[in-house]
Amino acid sequence: MLLLQRTNKNIDFNFIKRRLCSFFRLTLSSEMARLCGKVAIVTAAAQGIGEATVKKFVAEGAIVYATDINAEKLQQLSEQIPGIKTSVLDVTNGDEIKAFAETTERVDILFNCAGYVHHGTILECNENSWDFSFDLNVKSMYRMCSTFIPKMMKNKNGGSIINMSSVASSIKGAANRCVYGTTKAAVIGMSKSIAIDFVQDKIRCNSVCPGTVDTPSLRGRINAYGDAEQAMRDFVARQKMGRLATAEEISHLIVYLASDESAFVTGQEFIIDGGWSM
Ligand code: NAD
Repeated sequence: MLLLQRTNKNIDFNFIKRRLCSFFRLTLSSEMARLCGKVAIVTAAAQGIGEATVKKFVAEGAIVYATDINAEKLQQLSEQIPGIKTSVLDVTNGDEIKAFAETTERVDILFNCAGYVHHGTILECNENSWDFSFDLNVKSMYRMCSTFIPKMMKNKNGGSIINMSSVASSIKGAANRCVYGTTKAAVIGMSKSIAIDFVQDKIRCNSVCPGTVDTPSLRGRINAYGDAEQAMRDFVARQKMGRLATAEEISHLIVYLASDESAFVTGQEFIIDGGWSM
């Protein structure tokens, strides 16, 4: 495989992956590749939890479309992972989503990861911030799900949708996260609604609710505080385990929800928060 990658850049890696997956399915335990041959779309894939999940999906045998607004970081990702497909995609833009959908035939897994953290109470959230947060955190998922569910409905085995929520949602009030928590509660509600409406089509839909995860945007939020070291201590202290999650830890849960191991699981919110909400 490595030799092929080095000698011919035009080789269809996904074709090879599908053939290898069929071979492994016949000869080895299914644990070898839990997403063998499944086609996955990931939004906000260029960094943080999205990037970690792309890497895990690929390692588990999936054919991955990694999308993000950051073209430069997507380029870096495609250089690191031969065979992944990358597309610049702004999930707040319905026309871009439609154009992107035309480039995909089959979709088995949709991981809607994109989201934005607004800092402040309701008194510090103007209408623009409110609307932007709902557009990026909730309406983007409406756009993606309503575009890709019809494709999943054509699959014999449906598909799995994983929507990124947060423990700061209907699960827990977090200080200065008014519109953020409100949007993430909406994600939980929307995911349950999709789950019940498409259960007969074998389409599962769940949401993931992390505590504080060490990602580039979290680091950015921490550095924006006057006393960044104290801010880090405060973020860490929220988790009773006394640490932040890694993006990779969250990706393990997402792989489970994407895989057939969770075939009997739908309409649920999965808390992964180091004990923050206990
Ligand atoms: P991040 O914020 O570090 O990266 C987000 C990515 O989203 C970036 O690559 C950015 O380019 C992309 N992006 C921004 N706007 C976009 C748009 N309009 N369309 C497509 N892509 C866009 O990532 P993260 O911290 O891993 O957060 C990912 C998700 O996880 C978010 O929904 C966030 O709310 C949620 N979450 C994060 C934490 C945390 O502590 N980091 C905790 C709970 C939930």
